[in-house]
Amino acid sequence: MNPKNNLFDTNIAFSKGIGDQKGALLTSELGIGTYREMLQYYPFRYEDRTVLHRASDLRTGMNHALLRGKLTRFALEGSGSKKRLTAILNDGTGQVELVWFQAIAWHQKNLNQHQEYFVYGKPVQFGSKWSITHPEIEVHVPGQPFTARFTPVYQLTEKLKRRSIDSRTLFRAVESILAKTYSEIPETLPGSLLEKYRLPAKRDAVYHIHLPANENLLNQARRRLKFEELFFNQLQLIKKKFFEKKTTPGPVFGQIAFVHELFEKHLPFSLTNAQKRVIREIRNDVRSGLQMNRLVQGDVGSGKTIVAFIAALMAIDNGYQVCLMAPTEILAEQHFNNLQKLALKLGIEVGRLMGATKAKDRKILHEGLRSGTISLVVGTHALLEDEVLFHNLGLCIIDEQHRFGVAQRARLLDKNARIRPHMLVMTATPIPRTLAMTLYGDLDQSEIDELPPGRKPIVTTHRFDSHRAAVFGFLRSQLGEGRQIYLVYPLIEESEKSDLKDLEDGYESISRAFPGIPLSIVHGKMKPRDKAFEMARFARNETKILVATTVIEVGVDVPNATVMVIENAERFGLAQLHQLRGRVGRGSGQSYCILMTSYKLSADTRKRIETMCRTNNGFEIAQTDLELRGPGDLMGTQQSGIVELKIANLGLDGPILKEARASALEILENDPELSSPGNQPVKNHLLQVGDQGTNWSRIG
Ligand code: ADP
Ligand code: MG
Repeated sequence: MNPKNNLFDTNIAFSKGIGDQKGALLTSELGIGTYREMLQYYPFRYEDRTVLHRASDLRTGMNHALLRGKLTRFALEGSGSKKRLTAILNDGTGQVELVWFQAIAWHQKNLNQHQEYFVYGKPVQFGSKWSITHPEIEVHVPGQPFTARFTPVYQLTEKLKRRSIDSRTLFRAVESILAKTYSEIPETLPGSLLEKYRLPAKRDAVYHIHLPANENLLNQARRRLKFEELFFNQLQLIKKKFFEKKTTPGPVFGQIAFVHELFEKHLPFSLTNAQKRVIREIRNDVRSGLQMNRLVQGDVGSGKTIVAFIAALMAIDNGYQVCLMAPTEILAEQHFNNLQKLALKLGIEVGRLMGATKAKDRKILHEGLRSGTISLVVGTHALLEDEVLFHNLGLCIIDEQHRFGVAQRARLLDKNARIRPHMLVMTATPIPRTLAMTLYGDLDQSEIDELPPGRKPIVTTHRFDSHRAAVFGFLRSQLGEGRQIYLVYPLIEESEKSDLKDLEDGYESISRAFPGIPLSIVHGKMKPRDKAFEMARFARNETKILVATTVIEVGVDVPNATVMVIENAERFGLAQLHQLRGRVGRGSGQSYCILMTSYKLSADTRKRIETMCRTNNGFEIAQTDLELRGPGDLMGTQQSGIVELKIANLGLDGPILKEARASALEILENDPELSSPGNQPVKNHLLQVGDQGTNWSRIG
């Protein structure tokens, strides 16, 4: 290893004011074990000390004040542990007493009467007298501001605070580390990028993120570090894509007779331009000889299923098998029913496999897949099991209501030992471009950004629980017009008894309010068979209201159901609300979504509800969701192994991400092995962070 790196690997215990004990605590509590880790532990906010207060303006409840004035009347008071040094600060508008219990001798010696000082601290009032204990104090040099204008505040744990490790402890440690390392901090980006985007040098960014001299330098430091973080994140993802794309062969699907037959005889509608475009993108991939890895994004109802089916036909036509994996049984069942209808017309055999599939049926299915008589199989995670073997798997389609892990996707692809199957991933609802680039940066992306014609936008309204009677009145009028209704209750954990009780109470009150109207109830505690039975009754229009938990979120497609009532809407995330709303608006009638809430709403909740009422556009909703919650909480991203971003925020830093991505792409295109002198900083950084499995020379 480069000897210079050793400096950054120095144990945190050796920095000023830390030592063995505090060092061990910082390591166990915050993962800070070395100088490097300390420097990478960025402040989460800064105290703004730019506002100068006047003594006459001090008010109770003020957290901090910055004052400027001369000191008078030094005095030693009390004795023993009460012994203290006091002085009076006078700024011309009033007086404030300053008090020191510690370092008395030092302050006595160094503070003097004729000097003007900046004083910063928490003012406390005793009677009519203001006082600040242990203020930060600094000589005022005329014309110069208080130097610690922006002071970093670090995220700490309770345990650290109890052991008197505070932001100032870290601040002092960082200060001492920077004094020793500043000139050794290596640059990680090419000079050309720094110039092009006017980014400060790495060492200056690190310095000013911790010890910003002013707001402008702080902002520049932030921008630079965000850029760097996103740049390397994109570089890794794109490199992986480049590498796999250029080297992994894939099956060639040349024939498209089935696709023609479908178009000519069996397609009940014409495709939207967006659908056609995405199909062309897929078609180009699957006949290229290289393996396809593609993400198809599209709003609820944009028609992703038919696109997936057409891709499946391309594979089947060429003697390959296809598997479609969905995250829930209901969704898998729905896909199976839809696809089977079309497949039967073309004489294609479709199988299904889920957790609930009986052993006997399983055996038949396994046999059909091994011999190749079954061309298309639809299922859940059960498809991943080792016993599931294919004759000639050529395409994996993954419907991601929540994200399957990378490892799970890989397990499907491994089910053909001779050639790597193509992969098509479909999102259930759109995710913002910035998030897609990061979550799925290794996939090529297609967007179905257009809905089939003739859809009437769903009318969404917000009603408080107290207006239930009026809502019921509206439901009655819809029932009178022959429409059907969904009534959804939140059920975060299927096992939560109180939620189940809410649902059952709701069912009771609905039965009382709508006597003689046939109802269905569906929830996660029911047996799959009973669930399917109730859903089928609703789908056949035998029952008029479906009272359900979020199990209906995906899959169900009943065009005659035009009203979606969501109870306790405050308990749902935006993505989920949008997904639920997508269950209506599938037919030609005007559809409605009614969000019921209590009066007590947080600001975030109000924003969610307001967004839902304002727009039907899934891409827009996803962007708001990202801004409200950040990527970590977005549906399904928790278990996805998403890169931990230290400083960049995907909700807010879209523009920086675009620049970083474009830069990474350009560098990989022009210098895939990072051998040019200008790119050495990048290469060295990758080596330093131990870029996993990279063989830069294999790319290109
Ligand atoms: P999603 O993208 O949410 O999975 P689906 O594939 O379930 O959407 O399609 C929603 C509905 O729209 C289905 O009933 C489907 O048959 C229909 N559909 C799909 N494409 C078109 C089209 N081009 N024109 C008319 N209807 C379409
Ligand atoms: Mg779908």
